[in-house]
Amino acid sequence: MGSVIIENMTKQFGDFTALHNINLEIQEGEFFALLGPSGCGKTTTMRCIAGFEHPTSGKIKIGDKEVEKIPANRRNCGMVFQSYALFPHMNVFDNVAYSLNIKQLNASNPVKQLGIYARLLSKRLGRTPKDIQEKVMEILKYVELDQHAERLTSELSGGQQQRVALARALVMEPAVLLMDEPLSNLDQKLRHSMRNTIRTIQQDLGITTIFVTHDQEEAMSMADRVAVMDKGNIVQIGTPTELYSNPLTPFIADFVGTSNILDVEVVDHNQLNGLTTLKGDSFLLQSTNTIEKKQAKAVIRPEHIQVLPYDTAVNNEEVTVLEGIVVMSTYLGPTVRYDMKVGNQEMIVDTTYSSGTSIFEEGRKVKLSIEHGRVLLI
Ligand code: ATP
Repeated sequence: MGSVIIENMTKQFGDFTALHNINLEIQEGEFFALLGPSGCGKTTTMRCIAGFEHPTSGKIKIGDKEVEKIPANRRNCGMVFQSYALFPHMNVFDNVAYSLNIKQLNASNPVKQLGIYARLLSKRLGRTPKDIQEKVMEILKYVELDQHAERLTSELSGGQQQRVALARALVMEPAVLLMDEPLSNLDQKLRHSMRNTIRTIQQDLGITTIFVTHDQEEAMSMADRVAVMDKGNIVQIGTPTELYSNPLTPFIADFVGTSNILDVEVVDHNQLNGLTTLKGDSFLLQSTNTIEKKQAKAVIRPEHIQVLPYDTAVNNEEVTVLEGIVVMSTYLGPTVRYDMKVGNQEMIVDTTYSSGTSIFEEGRKVKLSIEHGRVLLI
């Protein structure tokens, strides 16, 4: 059973509280991301689950067992670290075989010969060297490294090293796979392909996976659900689409995707048409949302604003039309990002680009059309 339940977990380092009363329920087979800025407590949460740190208070259950008294090596968690933590003097095979039973082996003995651990392990586990050799080779094949079994890990590329680290965690058939920023040392392109590799393997094996990252795109593209953390607290848990379309706080709106977060005053709510009128620095805006506050934040995603030539007549009761000036346009291939000014208010707008579309030049006056239903109030 690979579910993970955390109840009221607090972790203090001396006087400093790194985690405040964390509660999480991660389902068996789920790919769950812990997302947040540096220092928010992601790694500490992970290390408490793995057993490398002990919570100051609270409970952790892996499957149906409370694990407080169970040491790290018996929690049935496989770990993959940002730094890979491979043995550079050992070949790929031995790096993977080593994790099958770390305690019984003599790590100080540099081993380059394929399969020596398989022989050592076979004694300990009562299995034939062949069994173990097959198991290691099977997992290496799975991560497409069987052809490199005899290479030293120091001779591998970053992506290959990361796959060795993954194989080493998976060979133990853990109930839970814990990954701490596993892709941050890879270049952009490799990161994208490793995202797919990890997600495919996770789905294939159905292994409960907890993935720590500060990269929102990584969390959103890989995870079934994401917990957003800030200053030792979990501030929202949801699927990527829930977090994107319904962020509970300005912090989340800003951290998960790009947002225009505008300070507004709620001036009216019309019961008949259901529209809330908002007054900003130099604009009036309407929203289908309601809020019980006088001062609020209006959150609008850049792709939910449409840019139109200034002379366009808009006859649509479901949108607010604002006048803007293009401050900067940035061509990004499939999209064009505009930095706009609406009076004194800065806004970012993303529009899709296809060949033949014209790009509004800097200094040009335009109209911005925003659907009332796209203006979220926090
Ligand atoms: P990053 O993305 O930078 O790795 P993180 O979200 O994983 O950050 P943690 O490593 O969990 O953050 O650290 C959370 C807070 O706890 C930080 O302020 C950190 O300085 C503090 N902290 C972590 N480990 C210790 C420790 N052993 N002793 C004292 N403070 C610690």
